[in-house]
Amino acid sequence: MSIKRLTCPGCGQSVNVPASMAKAQCPGCGQVFSTTQPVASPAKRAAPSPAAAKGQRDGATSADESKMLQWVLVLGVCFVAMGVLIVLTYFRVSGEKEQSKQAAEVAAAAEAKAEEEARRNIEYRVVDLPESTRMKIYRDYTAMTDSMGRNSKKVPSSGAAGKAFNQLMQTTDDREVTHFALIHNISEEDVMQIVLEGQANDW
Ligand SMILES: [Zn+2]
Repeated sequence: MSIKRLTCPGCGQSVNVPASMAKAQCPGCGQVFSTTQPVASPAKRAAPSPAAAKGQRDGATSADESKMLQWVLVLGVCFVAMGVLIVLTYFRVSGEKEQSKQAAEVAAAAEAKAEEEARRNIEYRVVDLPESTRMKIYRDYTAMTDSMGRNSKKVPSSGAAGKAFNQLMQTTDDREVTHFALIHNISEEDVMQIVLEGQANDW
């Protein structure tokens, strides 16, 4: 007796069937199927074999995987784009900084030159006192005006307070000039000439 080895269309199990039999019953799921047409069974279409189901699951899994891969790709592209943007922004900002730095340097150089020019154009009369004394007078005078300038920053330049302060500063300045003139036995105009000389020579 020869044996046919068939696959059950219901569950996919391999079934040994005597070749003489027209129909066989699957020991696994109990389905009766024709041994001559084992594949053409409506039950197969209704319930796919585990292998087919597995294939479908694999298909679903690989679809999920490709979806995830797409997301990973999109995220990756986003990160790369962000990185490029950050780098570009950094370079643009540093470029602008460099430009403004250069502009500031140019402006500072021009200002220094203008100051130098202004100093050279200051006209003054050399007062008949030793240079060391003239320097001391200039330095005392500028120390005084500097401290007043610092104080003036705390007071608004406009308004009653500012006006009063400016008046006070002018009075103090006049008094100090008189004070220097008395100490060194020179005129108030001499004091102003020494100040001009100090500004011209950048003492
Ligand atoms: Zn079966």
